[in-house]
Amino acid sequence: MPVSEELLEILACPMCKGDVEFREKAEFLVCERCDIRYFRERCDIERCRKCSGELKVSEGEVLVCRECSRWYPVIEDIPHMLPDNLREDLC
Ligand SMILES: [Zn+2]
Ligand SMILES: [Zn+2]
Repeated sequence: MPVSEELLEILACPMCKGDVEFREKAEFLVCERCDIRYFRERCDIERCRKCSGELKVSEGEVLVCRECSRWYPVIEDIPHMLPDNLREDLC
């Protein structure tokens, strides 16, 4: 289920407070060991940055900030909007 319009209205980028845009089909590179999802469009990596383990391609949903272009994964309908200093998935 996509993120609702109402929720999108409320959500803002935690870093710049800009509006975010929902994308229903995004490719992620997933490290199952670390439970980290890297947004493939932004992360040109072959191995997990934390454990150097293998990554699996998987489709998912993402929110992208219209102002600063930061991205935030939506996992099981929950937007995960963490500031940079709490993220392990930045490339
Ligand atoms: Zn890993
Ligand atoms: Zn932003």
